[in-house]
Amino acid sequence: MSHFTEAQKFIAGGVNSPVRAFAGVGGEPVFIRSAKGAWLETEDGRRLIDYVGSWGPMILGHGHPAVLEAVKNTADNGLSFGAPSLIETELAKKVCEFMPSIERVRMVSSGTEATMSAIRLARGHTGRDKIIKFEGCYHGHSDSLLIKAGSGALTLGVPSSPGVPAGLAEHTITLEYNNAEAVRQVFDEMGPEIACIIVEPIAGNMNMVPPVEGFLETLRECCTDAGTVLILDEVMTGFRVALGGAQSLYNITPDLTTIGKVVGGGLPAAAFGGRADIMASLAPDGPVYQAGTLSGNPLAMAAGLATLEQIGVPGFFESLSARTTELVQGLLQIAGEAGVPLTCEMEGGMFGFVFSDDGPIRTFSQVATADVDRFRKFFHGMLDAGIYLAPSAFEAGFVSAAHGDDEISKTLDAARAVFPTL
Ligand SMILES: *Cc1c(COP(=O)(O)O)cnc(C)c1O
Repeated sequence: MSHFTEAQKFIAGGVNSPVRAFAGVGGEPVFIRSAKGAWLETEDGRRLIDYVGSWGPMILGHGHPAVLEAVKNTADNGLSFGAPSLIETELAKKVCEFMPSIERVRMVSSGTEATMSAIRLARGHTGRDKIIKFEGCYHGHSDSLLIKAGSGALTLGVPSSPGVPAGLAEHTITLEYNNAEAVRQVFDEMGPEIACIIVEPIAGNMNMVPPVEGFLETLRECCTDAGTVLILDEVMTGFRVALGGAQSLYNITPDLTTIGKVVGGGLPAAAFGGRADIMASLAPDGPVYQAGTLSGNPLAMAAGLATLEQIGVPGFFESLSARTTELVQGLLQIAGEAGVPLTCEMEGGMFGFVFSDDGPIRTFSQVATADVDRFRKFFHGMLDAGIYLAPSAFEAGFVSAAHGDDEISKTLDAARAVFPTL
């Protein structure tokens, strides 16, 4: 019996998060027993070069000695106290230092919690219910955020999952990513009713789509004018595309930011934070409720702190970025030689590629035209050749500091063999 069949007998769908099931590419997921540096080892004993990095956290590669040592030392002193500990302040200080728009922060355990809490805070702080989000962005799986654009009127959303009350959809307005004009229209109509805009400053959950010039600036302007809270969801991009996140690259100061993934260094930590006056609305200082039994867990704080200390070293992002560039340029060249239409994006240690000749890709509808069949073939060809990519055409990829010349050249060798077969 395969590992997956066995898992399916006891775990819903055989996985603890849906995209892991390989539904987007077909076949059965590989089971991982260990990982070191840029490499995964499967239960069948195969070694794979990893471009998923646990979906983003592993920016230093797997099992970085400084991170492991920090976690082990911390574990010796106890796993969880449910009372303040100094390492929480230390990590909070680092987060505020690297992202100066964050004046106060609150730690949570997942990106979903971070965005859900940030939205509650924005609603509580403004006394408004409506929120704006964008098609193709993902902000975790809380009810208010599993809403997609309706087919009819601009402002009436519909739940994107059964179990989400239709009543909630009335408060969630879903607009087209990179369409500043649509945002202006909604603000003209009902600006003073809108609690917040939540947006991925570089979209990383519909492959990878950077913001067009003026898009984030328009959001900032509309929010400032209407007293609306601008939330940049940097759960993926924070400490990944640059030390200060996408907000530092595009020079946008949000009111609140959500972070996750890298900030936990591979353990369950995430956070939301921002303007001190808004964060003061949060309990215990203010009336907006939010709490967590394991929030600020010492092990997660230790992994996060050790990770941030490593990425804070001067030159870290320059060399990470150079590696990612090498990979992306290599892929584009090989695709070109094979006559396969491909468009790529990258920033820091994050990249995306779409089998399409409609580049540059700037909208959700452009992403949706991707040649998914070709992606599936590519994915399995690369996997057979020892390269582990995200098992979906609509995910971003991640390069870590542990990806060296050897890993990049092995990856490009594999691509050289696979592209002509597509
Ligand atoms: C991953 C992600 C989330 C959700 O984080 P989880 O830890 O999986 O709950 C939210 N927003 C963005 C932008 C993400 O990439």
